[in-house]
Amino acid sequence: MDKIMIVTGGSRGIGAATCLMAAKHGYAVAVNYRGNREAAEGVVSAIEADGGTAIAVQADMAVESEVVQLFETVDDRLGRVTALVNNAGIVDQPSQVADMSADRIARMMSVNVVGPFVCAREAVRRMSNERGGAGGAIVNVSSAASHAGGGGGAGTYVDYGASKGAIDTLTEGLAQETAGQGIRVNAVRPGVVDTEIHASGGLPDKPEQAKAAIPLGRVGQPEDIAEAILYLTEAQFTTGAFLDVDGGV
Ligand code: NAP
Repeated sequence: MDKIMIVTGGSRGIGAATCLMAAKHGYAVAVNYRGNREAAEGVVSAIEADGGTAIAVQADMAVESEVVQLFETVDDRLGRVTALVNNAGIVDQPSQVADMSADRIARMMSVNVVGPFVCAREAVRRMSNERGGAGGAIVNVSSAASHAGGGGGAGTYVDYGASKGAIDTLTEGLAQETAGQGIRVNAVRPGVVDTEIHASGGLPDKPEQAKAAIPLGRVGQPEDIAEAILYLTEAQFTTGAFLDVDGGV
C-alpha cells in the first residue's frame, strides 16, 4: 500500500522536519500551510530534490471548508491518506486569564482544537475499515503545556495549555473509538523546541532561558520531535500512547 501522509503546519518548525523525515521513510507528503507558501514550497523542493514526492496545500485549520478541501486535494493528487500528523498550532502573546478576550480564546481553540478534530474526522472517514478504508495512523502534536497548566509559567499561556489538554483527550478517546477500525491514534508531547513559535508568542528568548532546567542540557530540535512522530506513525502495537519528548523534564 502507498504511504501517504498529511502534515498540518508542515511548512516550518516541527512540521517541516516531520515532512522531510517522512519522505525519507517512503511517504508521499502533503505539506499543509496557512500563509507561508514560500516555506511550504521550500519543503516540497527539498523532498523532490531527494527523489521523494510532496505537494504543498494551503488550508487554515480554523476554517472547516479549507480543511475538507485539503483532504480532497490529497485524494485527487496523492491518493487516500494513510497517516495524519495534527501538528499545526499557535500561541498568543503572554497574558493572564484575567486579561484574555473571548476572541483570543476562541481563536486558540479554533486552530489548536477544532482544526485537529476536523482533520481527524476527515482522516477517519478515509482510513476506517468500517468505511472501506485500509486503516492508518494519526499522531497529534500536544505539548508539555497540557499537563503544566500553560506554556511558559504563570501569566503566559493557560489558553494554549488548555487547548493541548483537549488534544490529549482527543487522542485518548479517538484511540479507543477507532482501535477496532484499523486506526491507531497517539500523541507526542514536546518540551521546549527551537522553532519560530516562541517569537510569534512574544518570547523569542524562551529556548535559551529554558535550557538550564532541562536535564539533558539542551532544548529540542525539530528533528527530535519528528523522530518521535515517525516512530508513533509506524509502531503497529501502539495506540492511545503519549510520548513525552522534553529532554527529561
Ligand atoms: P512554528 O514553527 O510556529 O510553525 C507553525 C506551523 O503551523 C507553520 O507551518 C504554520 O504555517 C502552521 N500554522 C499556524 N497556524 C495555522 C493555521 N491556522 N492553519 C494551518 N497551519 C497553521 O511552530 P512549531 O514550534 O513547529 O509547533 C508545531 C506544533 O508543536 C504546534 O502544535 C505546537 O503547539 C507544538 N509544540 C511546539 C513546541 C515548541 O517549543 N516549539 C513545544 C510543544 C509543542 P505558516 O508557515 O503558513 O505560517
